[in-house]
Amino acid sequence: MSHLDSEAFVLRHVRQGETSHVVTLFARSGGKVAVLAKGSRKPGSRFGAGLDLFNLTRIRYRPRPNRDLVFLDACELARDFGCLARDVFGYAAAAVCAELVDRVVPEGADSDEIFELLHAAFDALATTVPLPPGEEMRAVALCVAFQMKLADCLGIAPELTACVACGEADLSGAGALSPGRGGLLCRRCRAAEGGRRLGAETIGFLRESLFGELSAPLLAPRAPARGLLLEARSALDSLFEYHHHGHPGQLRARRFLDELWR
Ligand SMILES: [Zn+2]
Repeated sequence: MSHLDSEAFVLRHVRQGETSHVVTLFARSGGKVAVLAKGSRKPGSRFGAGLDLFNLTRIRYRPRPNRDLVFLDACELARDFGCLARDVFGYAAAAVCAELVDRVVPEGADSDEIFELLHAAFDALATTVPLPPGEEMRAVALCVAFQMKLADCLGIAPELTACVACGEADLSGAGALSPGRGGLLCRRCRAAEGGRRLGAETIGFLRESLFGELSAPLLAPRAPARGLLLEARSALDSLFEYHHHGHPGQLRARRFLDELWR
């Protein structure tokens, strides 16, 4: 079979034998692909920084009929995001975004849109790190906003402008997110139907995450409060689980970020 070329982001490495890696990439065309990079662990490997985590790389690979794994023939570094390692929170946030894409994106999702979302996240983090002391929760906020935009790419973004049960547009009081109904419930409908409470500020943050710039949580004058972020994230997790898009709360990178944050 002939070679394929694509731009891709490096999401994950697994050691393979003594000298190689299996590298999970997210390609602009085609989405997630696991490649066998033969000899990548040898000193002075021909793949160089092109296979370092989070880097943008141009890859050439050979699909093998009826096999999951493909051979990586060559890669060329297109953008180095090594600067993310300067800040442990920035690095952990990039890892959360990468692991989310690795674990929850199903076959056949719009890869171009998700590729651009990853690019925007790494770019926003790279231009902001290191985060000033006391502002570290912005890294968590970026991950929550990323998860909301990923939901949009997957076609499961919730209705956030009016109550999905009664159409009430005033959601300034506390409400709830109903994954089954696909959106917000107003205070009155929440009392009737149940659901975990979301404060008005959390609803505002979810809206900004869906409709605003991804980098907004990193640049906003005030960093979002911890309780708000936990509330928003838990609502999004329940949405992903309802749609069978994995268990974001169990991601290793997320647990690592939370340990830093506590
Ligand atoms: Zn209602």
